[in-house]
Amino acid sequence: MHRPTDGHATLARLSPSIWVGVAPRGDAGLNVTSFPAESTAVHWLTDGHATLPSALAESTDAAAPAPNAPFGRHLISIADLGAAGIAEVLGVAEAFAEVERRAIPKVPTLRGKVIATLFFEESTRTRLSFETAAKRLSADVISLAVATSAVKKGESLRDTVETVEAMGIDALVVRHSSSGAPTQVARWTKRARVVNAGDGWHEHPTQALVDCFTIRQVIAERTGDDPASLGVSCFEGLRILIVGDIAHSRVARSQVLAYSALGAEVTLAAPGSLLPPSLEGWPVAVAGDLDSALGRADVVSLLRLQAERGSGAYVPSLREYTAGWGLTARRLPLLADHAIVTHPGPMVRGVEIASDVADLPVTVATRQVANGVAVRMAVLFLLLGAEGAGGPRD
Ligand code: ASP
Repeated sequence: MHRPTDGHATLARLSPSIWVGVAPRGDAGLNVTSFPAESTAVHWLTDGHATLPSALAESTDAAAPAPNAPFGRHLISIADLGAAGIAEVLGVAEAFAEVERRAIPKVPTLRGKVIATLFFEESTRTRLSFETAAKRLSADVISLAVATSAVKKGESLRDTVETVEAMGIDALVVRHSSSGAPTQVARWTKRARVVNAGDGWHEHPTQALVDCFTIRQVIAERTGDDPASLGVSCFEGLRILIVGDIAHSRVARSQVLAYSALGAEVTLAAPGSLLPPSLEGWPVAVAGDLDSALGRADVVSLLRLQAERGSGAYVPSLREYTAGWGLTARRLPLLADHAIVTHPGPMVRGVEIASDVADLPVTVATRQVANGVAVRMAVLFLLLGAEGAGGPRD
């Protein structure tokens, strides 16, 4: 993150030549003398009150190469991003977090765009945060209620997608119980961008981005740094322990890709029956038991047993699972003093985490939910923002 000399605005780099700037509402005449010389396009997330020097204003949208995303047309997997792409998303999300702190947390950035959420599987956090994110960017949001749609009459996924796209949708946010469904949807769409909001056991890339954002935020608070100034260096050598139903968890797969790309040391802790059949190619270690692994961990990432994918059959009983692998009150003293406990939600209190532990400050699940909006704003902006996004003259 780069700060202009007057300290009023915050700039984040989207690509070598594109920057996003956030200025306080009503801030006119920004001093941008330290503005990076190589910038050719700036998307200002003000509400139109700021004025830019004319040279920059002229170069704004017209010069913007499209797309400005660090990834391709779609976000299906964390592998689409790599370390540099993750860093860009976190940087832009930081800028949007500032927007969220405003009295009216809304910017015209995606005005005129239409974003559809297609959730073929249950969701609370992911769906609401994508919809909130889209609305804060001034996009129009439509949401397919699968239970009352023609899907129930037997319409195929392909026909559903083609029908929705025919209405001029710009982006589809897709959750599906089948691994690979968003990849298929991306093949079928002609112009709409596709975001994977969780597919079967495969991936949940925006959850891993939220988790990275939250971990960095907590570390920055402790060190007194600006999170953006930390970049992603705070992940280098960070010891992250992922605990629970790794085999059936799309969150775990995205986390492993993200954390290892950023240089963290990832360890998995799970009963053998809940580890994937092969870990070949996974850049991870495996802990034999939870008690000895907990004390070494800077971050403990808990996962829910994916009962909808039959996880119950892989553990003798919930009580035994909790005794072996749950973050119980008894295990709390085993955690390092600085440990951060994450959980993507929904938490099943009393199973993977004791209710009392879930409510302690060490557990940052609510913060993860709050950060979900800024991170998803960043993803939507990076996918759609280059196509005539609202700039300072809007
Ligand atoms: N909400 C996350 C997901 O959709 C985690 C979970 O459901 O356990 O995968």
